[in-house]
Amino acid sequence: MKIFCIGRNYADHAKELNNPIPDSPLVFMKPTTSLLIKNRHFFYPEFSNDIHYEGEVVIKIGKNGRHIQPEFALSYIDGVGFGLDLTARDIQQKCKENGHPWEIAKGFDHSAPISKFISFEGLDADNINIVTKLNGEVVQDGNTKDLLFSFQDIIVYLSTYFTLQQGDYIFTGTPAGVGPIKIGDKLEGFINGTKLLKCDVK
Ligand code: ZN
Repeated sequence: MKIFCIGRNYADHAKELNNPIPDSPLVFMKPTTSLLIKNRHFFYPEFSNDIHYEGEVVIKIGKNGRHIQPEFALSYIDGVGFGLDLTARDIQQKCKENGHPWEIAKGFDHSAPISKFISFEGLDADNINIVTKLNGEVVQDGNTKDLLFSFQDIIVYLSTYFTLQQGDYIFTGTPAGVGPIKIGDKLEGFINGTKLLKCDVK
C-alpha cells in the first residue's frame, strides 16, 4: 500500500507559503508508518517546534491500474476521506533551503491521521467541500473545484509513473489556512459537512 501526497494543489495555499504555482502535480510520498487511524491522539514529537496541520481530501484507490486514461480515471476511486498532512515546517524549511528531499518533515510516524472513508458514488469530484476546525473554529474551508490538478489529473499523472494499487491513498493537497498546532489542541475534519476526523494533540 502506498500513500501519495500532492503539494501546492490550491493556488491560495501556494501563495500563503510564498511557493510558486507548479505546472505539473508536485508529488511526494509518506510511508505506511505515518498513518494514524481510528481518531487516535497525535503525540507531539520532540524533534520539531513547528508542526502544522494541513487538512486534505484523501482518495482511496479501489482497483489496480497503470497508464490510466482520463475518461476512466474516476472509476479508480473507491472512497474519499479526510486526512491531515502533518508537516514539521521548521524541518521542511531547512530541507528546502538545502535542496534536500523533505521526507523527514512530512513522513515521520503518525504524520498522516486519516478518517474512515465514505463512498465516492454520488459525489462530484469537482465539488467536494473540505473544512478543518481547530479547537472548534473553522481554519480551512476549501472546495475541490479550486484544485489546480483535479482528481482525474492526479490519477492520470501518478499512474504514468506508479502502478496504482487497490488500497493506495492519495492526499490531494491542502487549501489555504494552514497553521501550527500545540499540545492540547483539538483538530476536526469535515467532508461535505460531515465530521469524519477527530484528532487530539497530546
Ligand atoms: Zn499537504
